[in-house]
Amino acid sequence: MEGARVLIVEDEPRIVYLVREVLTAAGYEVFAACNGKNAVEQVALHQPHLVILDILLPGGQDGYAVADRLREFSDIPIIMLTGKAREADMLLGFEAGADDYITKPFSSKELLARIKAVLKRSRQGAAQPVSREEIECGDIRIDLRRRKVTNAGLEVHLTSTEYKVLHELAVHQNQVLLHEQLLTAVWGSEYRDDCEYLRSYIHSLRKKLEKNPADPKIIVRCRGVGYCLVCDEAPE
Ligand code: CA
Repeated sequence: MEGARVLIVEDEPRIVYLVREVLTAAGYEVFAACNGKNAVEQVALHQPHLVILDILLPGGQDGYAVADRLREFSDIPIIMLTGKAREADMLLGFEAGADDYITKPFSSKELLARIKAVLKRSRQGAAQPVSREEIECGDIRIDLRRRKVTNAGLEVHLTSTEYKVLHELAVHQNQVLLHEQLLTAVWGSEYRDDCEYLRSYIHSLRKKLEKNPADPKIIVRCRGVGYCLVCDEAPE
């Protein structure tokens, strides 16, 4: 995405310098903020296409808090940048609404690849307006206004929780959703560790939607990670 505007939120001048050099050379327009308050102002002011957000920031707001604040008014893609590489931090980041995660030290190649991938995903998301009335996945159609689901033209009766799980998978079709992401989106963050809970709903959804629930082709599990709703890509 030539000319995309990127905001880097980081208090270490060395890293700001590095990111600015790499991204400017690749044709991006780069802004910088050194704390959370300034980051929120810059997003409102410049409406960048993407934010690279460090977790450890001065001024009382860490990266998670900044992501939370940004999510109150914007769905701008966020890549968290951090020296920490613990899984718990990664999950906190996703919960706060981050789209991806880069661990320091990173190479310029990795940085560019991540940015490109996140921008591409966000463009695909934007191409499907939020106000759309229907999501299609193979034979499955989800009528968002009436909250009705059909499979090959036949109505499928889902409980309201089953519907929420399917809806969450469908709006992220062909992407793996982490267990924690799904649990948080459907039940709330206090349920983020209840994988058994999720498993039982996935089981009943498969019974209602899959030709052979024992060999699922639509709601596919990625062992230890999460689930993915597999839909044929629309022809280009
Ligand atoms: Ca920092």
